[in-house]
Amino acid sequence: AMVTRLGPSPTGFAHLGGVYVAMLDKDLARQSGGVYFIRVEDTDAARTVEGATAQFDAAFGYFGVTADETEENGAYGPYTQSARERIYLSYARQFLRDGLAYPCFATREELSAAADEQRAAKVPTGYYGRWAPWREAPAERVREALAAGRPYVIRFRSPGGGRARFTDLVRGELSADANRNDVVILKSSESPVRLPTYHFAHVVDDHLMRVTHVIRGDEWLSSVPVHLQLFAAAGFEPVAYAHIAPLLKQDGSARRKLSKRKDPEASVEFFISAGYPAPAVLYYLRGLINGRLAELPLEQALREPLRLSEAGVSGALVDLVKLEDISADHVATIPSPVILDDVLAWADAYDTELAAAARAEPELAVRALDIERTGVDNPRKDLRKWSDFRPVYGYFFTGLFEPVTDPADSRLGGLPADVVRALCTGFLRDYQDLTDGDAWFNQIRAAAADNGFAASPKEYKADRDAFHGSIREASQVIRVLLTGSTRSPALHLVANALGEPETRRRIEAILA
Ligand code: ATP
Ligand code: GLU
Repeated sequence: AMVTRLGPSPTGFAHLGGVYVAMLDKDLARQSGGVYFIRVEDTDAARTVEGATAQFDAAFGYFGVTADETEENGAYGPYTQSARERIYLSYARQFLRDGLAYPCFATREELSAAADEQRAAKVPTGYYGRWAPWREAPAERVREALAAGRPYVIRFRSPGGGRARFTDLVRGELSADANRNDVVILKSSESPVRLPTYHFAHVVDDHLMRVTHVIRGDEWLSSVPVHLQLFAAAGFEPVAYAHIAPLLKQDGSARRKLSKRKDPEASVEFFISAGYPAPAVLYYLRGLINGRLAELPLEQALREPLRLSEAGVSGALVDLVKLEDISADHVATIPSPVILDDVLAWADAYDTELAAAARAEPELAVRALDIERTGVDNPRKDLRKWSDFRPVYGYFFTGLFEPVTDPADSRLGGLPADVVRALCTGFLRDYQDLTDGDAWFNQIRAAAADNGFAASPKEYKADRDAFHGSIREASQVIRVLLTGSTRSPALHLVANALGEPETRRRIEAILA
């Protein structure tokens, strides 16, 4: 069984890459009958943001990548690194005792001077060789420095060596120069709490929390030689690694890493606040992880196992247009009452005015959602995420609709006020809420013919002076009065959804 974990740093909103990796973590653990958990990596105190952990819970919860094991039910905690301080300290002490680590009192200036020298000599930068004076410092010197209260870090005594060889579950067999940099494992003694570096926390935590597989961004690939040395020095069984290529963004003609600083869609909150249905996003991301899943229908793709061996090594492009298409197709398969529930749940958090208006007329909402699922004026295609609900369906609700009362309103097409009024009066005289499209439309035709509108645009064009417009202009008047917009689904469907009393009220608004 595989034990996997996500190590998010609470430095702000959760990154979409976090969900991407978490999907693999959770799926692989599940496939193997194992366990997936989340360990909050908050050892960079300066970057830690208040409330970020709650954001993570909301973000990972929305996408269903919740931890199987937490503080409440897990025996391997704490699940937050800052609460594990004593654990790192005790291992660091053991490293010191065993000669695997040593205190280093080098100042910032000394380190940067050494790095300058190394760059000039065209050798790798780092703490090693003749640039590592504290590595073999006599005990006497160390005691003096400690007595003088000089700040220090704890460094790993790297064994160096020839080549590091390892298997990456995405990239296969790899080898690299063995590490010879004496990396820091415990940060400066000046800080009030002694926190470990990522390298040390990774090795200690993943061992103690019996992690078998570490799936992480490929920016860590170059650190594997250090990590393997640390596992070996500590006498721990190393984890298996899978390094995942980053999510990418198309930026002009170039592609670069999707970045929280530049791209709103790098943040999970972007998808939650816009109300993208979780299954659509998960389906899209699964297709990015394993291309073959993009070829399957959603339900099936969500059930199929993810495979590390099929993950790409060059990075997957996040294309919002593609995602919106997928999402629209998905939404079109959801029954209207379920859509309404989802929209209301979203609107309670992000659009309370919409929530109130739709809750006041829930049956109307379902009738509106039921309008034409196919055809040219298919409103469902415009509903790709829950924040689209207001622009697409908002006009149906009394609480959101602004009746059109001014005949000079530009949306009405510039017809004289008395012509608009006469047309509407004629339309309402014998108006019935007919469900047959043709029969319903005949009511506009009759009112239009009675009030100086040509039966066709062609007829109007042939003799513009004889008419106010054609049936097209007349229909637009009714459309604008019913919907507030010059574009809408078929009018009889809108009118049927609104019902006769409301249809009459909206048209009467122009007569008042
Ligand atoms: P970054 O510093 O790159 O913005 P982060 O530290 O803000 O990332 P975390 O939430 O800490 O993001 O990351 C959780 C996991 O997501 C890590 O394994 C990290 O490697 C991965 N990750 C971060 N950015 C990306 C990306 N663009 N594509 C894929 N995975 C990513
Ligand atoms: N906190 C690390 C990061 O933000 C986690 C990397 C890992 O999964 O080991 O990338």
